[in-house]
Amino acid sequence: MSYYKHIEQEDREVFAAIEGEEKRQAEGLELIPSENYVSRAVKEAMASSLTNKYSEGYPGKRYYGGQEFTDQVERIAIERAKSLFGAGFANVQPLGGANANIAAYFALLEPGDTVLGMDLSHGGHLTHGHPVTYLAKLFRFVRYGMKDVETGEIDYNALAETARKEKPKVVLAGFSAYPRQLDWQKIADIAHEVGAVAMADVAHIAGLIAGGAQKNPFDYGFDLMTTTTHKTLRGPRGGLILVRSDEALAKKIDKAVFPGFQGGPHMHQIAAKAVAFGEALRPSFKIYAQNVVDNARRMADVFTEGGVRLIAGGTENHLILADVFGSLGVTGAEAETRLDEAGITLNKNVIADDTRKPLDPSGIRFGTPALTSRGFSAQDCAQVAALMLQVLKTPAAVAEAHGAIRTLALAHPIPDSYQ
Ligand SMILES: *Cc1c(COP(=O)(O)O)cnc(C)c1O
Repeated sequence: MSYYKHIEQEDREVFAAIEGEEKRQAEGLELIPSENYVSRAVKEAMASSLTNKYSEGYPGKRYYGGQEFTDQVERIAIERAKSLFGAGFANVQPLGGANANIAAYFALLEPGDTVLGMDLSHGGHLTHGHPVTYLAKLFRFVRYGMKDVETGEIDYNALAETARKEKPKVVLAGFSAYPRQLDWQKIADIAHEVGAVAMADVAHIAGLIAGGAQKNPFDYGFDLMTTTTHKTLRGPRGGLILVRSDEALAKKIDKAVFPGFQGGPHMHQIAAKAVAFGEALRPSFKIYAQNVVDNARRMADVFTEGGVRLIAGGTENHLILADVFGSLGVTGAEAETRLDEAGITLNKNVIADDTRKPLDPSGIRFGTPALTSRGFSAQDCAQVAALMLQVLKTPAAVAEAHGAIRTLALAHPIPDSYQ
């Protein structure tokens, strides 16, 4: 494995762990909907000498010398991010999705201010004010959710009423476990009616938006978007904040990221973001994004036909939430373990109105971004879904399914590049 030859020669311990992980990824199927495979070009940027450089500040305004090339890299990343999402401004420095959200809150809120966000058990993220986070101590989070768990429709009337009553400074729309499209226009209108900023956390679906397979919140009046860069967007682990058009808001965001919250930017990651954004600007990425959605729909159909209840009745994006306990009597944790033994990685997940505890909930969450990057067709995905059902319904089928899953995995090697 010449790609890691220096680690192999100089540090056998770390090399063994990396090699083990490479093998795990190659031989198993990744169905965690927030994971993906980056290209070699993205990895090369991450491994570049840009990691050696301190670049506190922004292009043209840095606190250290020697910024000729870091400025170039950050400017390229910013310009590409803007054109991918139709944004007026981009900050490419957040180290992750959580950092992007925290910086956005710091830019928009004073301690004690109110945020109206999606109910966590209806698909919202930890950083949307889960009680275990420090954010929940600093800000006041109030919630909206689904009106009907079977169709996934958001209760927009309740959202509007809560907004009028609670006077949030931010109305936050975004999720990590919600399989439908939001009515961005309705949410933006409600936010603006009460004088709040309309903020979308598109961490999960950024790649689908960039590839044109999902609606772009900026086309419906949203002011601000935060995202990760490593989920459907298929870049390095990192975060990104986009502002549609308000320059004063963009300046507040820049200040909140640095010096408000973070230290020196990770320039090697920013270079890798630039490379990934370049890949996402290619026509082939549009096909990828559409295939992700088509593949997820196919898997959802197989589950429904197999008698499994899906939250929101199916999927319109890249992910599926299945009530395996209610439908098959298998708990989320048991399903996760059994599928793991068969070579499929996914996660247990709470479902709306879950009667079970978060550590062993009723549901599983899975999705198609990683499989689609490996070239899985809708038919391949249907086969994977059928194998999953076999494992869930018959514990004794694990060994046999494992063989079939390994064969499928090896027939679809992880690509080095996405042309
Ligand atoms: C994944 C995710 C995040 C957090 O991203 P990290 O890079 O893990 O910090 C934030 N918001 C949503 C909606 C997410 O899905």
